[in-house]
Amino acid sequence: MTVKENLLKIKKSISDAEKAAARTENSVKLVAVSKFHPLEKIIEAIDAGQVVFGENRVQEAKEKFTKLFEMGYKPELHIIGSLQRNKVKDAVKIASCIESLDRLSLAEEIEKQCAKIEKKIQVLFEIHTGEESKAGFTDENELRNVIQLCADGKFPHLEPKGFMTMAPNTENQEEIKKSFVALKDLQKKFSAEFPVLDFSELSMGMSGDFPLAIECGSTMVRIGTAIFGEREY
Ligand SMILES: *Cc1c(COP(=O)(O)O)cnc(C)c1O
Repeated sequence: MTVKENLLKIKKSISDAEKAAARTENSVKLVAVSKFHPLEKIIEAIDAGQVVFGENRVQEAKEKFTKLFEMGYKPELHIIGSLQRNKVKDAVKIASCIESLDRLSLAEEIEKQCAKIEKKIQVLFEIHTGEESKAGFTDENELRNVIQLCADGKFPHLEPKGFMTMAPNTENQEEIKKSFVALKDLQKKFSAEFPVLDFSELSMGMSGDFPLAIECGSTMVRIGTAIFGEREY
């Protein structure tokens, strides 16, 4: 199957899952996760109409996406992997959204680097909801502290849009569901606490679990393998 065929198939599955969950049509966005895949595959996806891509390593993303921008393509890039402080400067130049905001010091660095280049960037707060993945906020008060600073206008270059999580890597559907439901509950809670902020996006669901994520309220699925094939590390 070509990238284009895979994209069509995934879009159909997303649309079926929206219908099954009585969700609004086209309410779920597709982030095509192109990490470890070459430029040519990304171009194939862009030519098939895909706009938003996800990468987890800044160095790799910088090489590929700088080239794409130079070639005149206009993809949007989401950074979805854990982000080191010294990579933030490059990340904010190429990305439209950082989905993996997981600590206060990172928010501070993103603010600093975005201020320098006078750019606003969307952010999602990554939440640790499952036992197997280590990434994301684990302490709700620490999360609340960062969100409070956003609400107080301390990070004028950050635009919070919602939350992101990775479900545990397991076959156990109940466990995966628990993770998604936890993110949805968090969204409800923080939306009520911080009505001035926008938490409308829930980035959850990958190749193996996206229909369930959509059933649980996902608005953004991050899909790699099902579009680009297995990754060669
Ligand atoms: C790699 C990755 C994905 C995509 O996973 P697939 O199983 O290939 O769809 C999604 N989210 C994050 C954070 C990732 O690192």
